[in-house]
Amino acid sequence: MFEKVLIANRGEIALRIHRACREMGIKTVAVHSTADADAMHVKLADEAVCIGPAPAKDSYLNKAAIISAALMTGADAIHPGYGFLSENADFAEMVEAHGMVFIGPKPAMIRLMGDKVSAKKAAKESGLPVIEGSEGDVKSVEEALAWGEKIGYPVIVKAAAGGGGKGMKVARNAQEMQEAFSLAKNEAKNSFANDVVYIEKYLQTPRHIEVQILADNYGNVVHLGERDCSLQRNHQKVLEETPSPALNVAQRRQIGEIARSAMEKLGYSSVGTIEFLYEDGRFYFLEMNTRVQVEHPITEMVTGIDIVREQIRVASGCPLGYGQDAIHFNGHAIECRINAEDPETFIPCPGKIGCWHVPGGLNVRVDSGMYWGYKVPACYDSMVAKLIVHGRTRNSVLMRLRRALEEFVIEGIKTTIPLHQKIIADPAFIDGAYNIHWLENFLKEQSKSGL
Ligand code: ADP
Repeated sequence: MFEKVLIANRGEIALRIHRACREMGIKTVAVHSTADADAMHVKLADEAVCIGPAPAKDSYLNKAAIISAALMTGADAIHPGYGFLSENADFAEMVEAHGMVFIGPKPAMIRLMGDKVSAKKAAKESGLPVIEGSEGDVKSVEEALAWGEKIGYPVIVKAAAGGGGKGMKVARNAQEMQEAFSLAKNEAKNSFANDVVYIEKYLQTPRHIEVQILADNYGNVVHLGERDCSLQRNHQKVLEETPSPALNVAQRRQIGEIARSAMEKLGYSSVGTIEFLYEDGRFYFLEMNTRVQVEHPITEMVTGIDIVREQIRVASGCPLGYGQDAIHFNGHAIECRINAEDPETFIPCPGKIGCWHVPGGLNVRVDSGMYWGYKVPACYDSMVAKLIVHGRTRNSVLMRLRRALEEFVIEGIKTTIPLHQKIIADPAFIDGAYNIHWLENFLKEQSKSGL
C-alpha cells in the first residue's frame, strides 16, 4: 500500500480523497494555487505545497509543478480527482516515468477513451451498443450530407476530442447540415485544437444513464449499478439518482452485465463510468470517463462501497478480492449539486460565506470543502457542496431531501438550493418522468410564469 499520496486537485474532491487516504493510514500532500491557501483540504493534509498562481493553467494544470511537488515530498502516488489532469494521458505517463503511480487506468486506456471516435470503436468491439453513425472522422460537408441521408435526420455532429458539451451541433435537415458541420468543426478546433468530427443519429428524448465500473489490475471487474443523470442544464449534470426510475430490475441487471463484461474484454483497470443514452428501452454508448465522477457518492450510499478507497487499493496493486455476487444494492440515493450561482440566471456568485450550516440526521451526507468565513474564489468551478441523501425508497429520499434542503443555510453568496427545492416539488420529477431536456423546459416554464 502507498505511504503518501499527492492530491492533484482542489475543492470537495480533494477533501474526499484526503478522507479516504486518512482512513487507510496513508499520508497526504495537498497542492494548491495561491487562491486556495485557505482551502479545507490544505488545512487537513499532512503537507501542502503551493504550485502556482490562481489561473488553473499555471497551477492545477501545471504538470511540471505537480510532479516536482510530488518528488519533493516523497509521494509514491498521485490522485488526480476529476477535471484538471484526471484524463490527461501525457500526465499519467509523466507520473509513471518519475517512478510514481497514477491513481487511474493505464495511460493507453485514457488515450483510447479520450478520443470519442476511438472510444466508440473500442466500445462497439467490446460488445456495447452504439448509436448509428459514421464509424470515424467525417472530412467534408459532402460526406456529412451523405451520412445525414443514410441515417436520417436529425443528426448530431460531434467533436472527437469533445468535452463539457462543446463542439456538438444538431442538424435537423440537409440545409442545417452545412452550418452544423462547419460550426462544430470550428468549435472543435478552437476549444480542443483538434477539428476531427463525427456524426451520429440525434436521439430526441433520451435519458442519460451511466454504469459505475470498478476493476483491478488482474482482470477482475465488477459494476456498481447505474446512475440516472438526465437532469442537465447546458449538458451539465444538476441532480443525479440511483437506481434510475426508468429501469426495472431485469433491465438494470442487463445493462450492468453488458458494461461489466465489455470492460473485462477491454482489460480496463481502476474506476470508470460508461455513459449511455437510453431511449425506448434501448441503451446506446455515449462515452467513457476514466476517473472518479462528481456523482460517485450516490453509488457509495446504495452499495456501501467506498469508491475512492477501492480506487486507491487497486492502483497500489491489491486485487479486488470480491466478485459481482458480493455487490448488493440497498435503497435509493439522490445527489444535488449546489452551486454558488443565482438560482434563476445561473450567474456565478463567488464571495465570502457568512453563516454555513449543513443539514444532518439519518442518511444525509454533505461533501464540501466550504466553511464559515471561507471566500469562494471566482476563478474555478462554482460547485460549493454536494448534498447526498439515502433512504429505503425513492419517496422517503424525496421527503428527506426536502427536509435537508430546508435545513441547509449558506449566507453571503447566492446558491442553487432554491432551484433544487423547486425541482423535487415538481409532479413530473416526483413521478420520475424526465429526460435530458426536462430541466431546460422546466426552467423555461418557470421564467414564463414568473416563478
Ligand atoms: P461531453 O463529453 O461534451 O459531455 P457527451 O458525448 O457526453 O459530450 O454528450 C453530452 C450530452 O449531449 C449528452 O448527455 C446528451 O445530453 C447530448 N448528446 C450527445 N450525443 C447525443 C445524441 N446522439 N443524441 C442526443 N443527445 C446527445
